[in-house]
Amino acid sequence: MLIDTYGRVATDLRVSLTDRCNLRCAYCMPEEGLQWLAKPDLLTDDEIVRLIRVAVTDLGITEVRFTGGEPLLRPGLVGIVERCAALTARPQMSLTTNGIGLTRTATALKAAGLDRVNVSLDTLRPDVFKTLTRRDRHHDVLDGLRAAREAGLNPVKVNTVLMPGLNDDEAPDLLAWAVEHDYELRFIEQMPLDAQHGWKRDGMITAGDILTSLRTRFSLTPEAEERGAAPAERWLVDGGPHRVGVIASVTRPFCGACDRTRLTADGQIRTCLFAQEETDLRGALRSGAPDEEIARIWKVAMWGKKAGSGLDDPAFLQPERPMSAIGG
Ligand code: SAM
Ligand code: SF4
Repeated sequence: MLIDTYGRVATDLRVSLTDRCNLRCAYCMPEEGLQWLAKPDLLTDDEIVRLIRVAVTDLGITEVRFTGGEPLLRPGLVGIVERCAALTARPQMSLTTNGIGLTRTATALKAAGLDRVNVSLDTLRPDVFKTLTRRDRHHDVLDGLRAAREAGLNPVKVNTVLMPGLNDDEAPDLLAWAVEHDYELRFIEQMPLDAQHGWKRDGMITAGDILTSLRTRFSLTPEAEERGAAPAERWLVDGGPHRVGVIASVTRPFCGACDRTRLTADGQIRTCLFAQEETDLRGALRSGAPDEEIARIWKVAMWGKKAGSGLDDPAFLQPERPMSAIGG
């Protein structure tokens, strides 16, 4: 088991497949992009599958989420999913993506064994999309969402970040659209993980703001189901069955129930999005360490997981890696 000193057990592994991306979302990356990891530093497909195998068979991981950067840019993605689906016990597998390219890959991903997708979409307005992501690809995302649903990657969830002055007036419209198309919408509070270090707590749109805005048009009742380790608090929309979630990492942190461990595209373990420390697994892999040694290193890293994100600490320091390089 991957257990920490606070008794939390990690069963959910987030795997970043690349730090590259074809969008430049303002809350994530600067317009000019970033210095990408060099190819030799990236884990190979075999290395990724091996680490996931160790996590699933020796360390109690039951859920794997592929992310990035943009994971659809990883050429070997379908093969990685297929090989992980053959593991015993087979983990639940999901993908967080900006949706661009899903029209080409959704069916193959489903056939390979992917269970679900989360597609990120922050606006229904193509012009706002272009401003926010610095790319004119709104249509591609909507097409990708449709392809995911048609391929049976259900429930299709939509991740939305609201930015002041850009799309903060869109919460009710986005929810009406999500209900109409049978997507499950989840708002994520903007976190201090952008490469530009532009995040300001004062200006951010909080969970409270989002709920107030949604209640101007919908009645929201808290979902009866236990939340467990789920990051999203969920509400039934107008009595159900549709739901909406809010991930309030900043204003209502859920660190006490966290069940995550993370692997970056260059083979570093992170115990938290906000961790300052990383533990190198790639070095061990490439120096011929057996599975038991890999598992031991991972367990030691997990043991050192901090109690919380530290966001409320006046001495909080943003981690060196931005969200796109950690894997959101
Ligand atoms: N490129 C894929 C995508 O956008 O879905 C996967 C990686 S992205 C880093 C994963 C999620 O993190 C997305 O839903 C994105 O909106 C969210 N995200 C990125 N930067 C964020 C930030 N500073 N605060 C909150 N969420 C953020
Ligand atoms: Fe790319 Fe996702 Fe970051 Fe947007 S949020 S720039 S799509 S990695």
